[in-house]
Amino acid sequence: MANYFECNTCGRPFKEGQGIILTLAGKKLFFHSKGCAYKFFKEVLELSDKDCIDDGVEEVLKKYEEVIETKRKKAEKKI
Ligand SMILES: [Zn+2]
Repeated sequence: MANYFECNTCGRPFKEGQGIILTLAGKKLFFHSKGCAYKFFKEVLELSDKDCIDDGVEEVLKKYEEVIETKRKKAEKKI
C-alpha cells in the first residue's frame, strides 16, 4: 500500500513517488506539483533576508552560466 502525503501549499493529497518531497531547514516539505513548490519557495524567498538571498542568487546564477557556456561549446564542436 502506498503512502499518501498532503501538499503543503494546497492541501491536495498525493501518492508516494508522485509530487515533490524536499527537506529544507530540517523540515520535510510536500508538494503535489511543481507549481505548488514554486509558489511556496517564491514566498519563502520574498520573506527571507535580502542579503542572504543575494549571495545565493549570485552563486546559482554563476553556476548555470557556466553550465550553459559548457553546453554551447560542446554544441559548437559538433557543427
Ligand atoms: Zn499542491
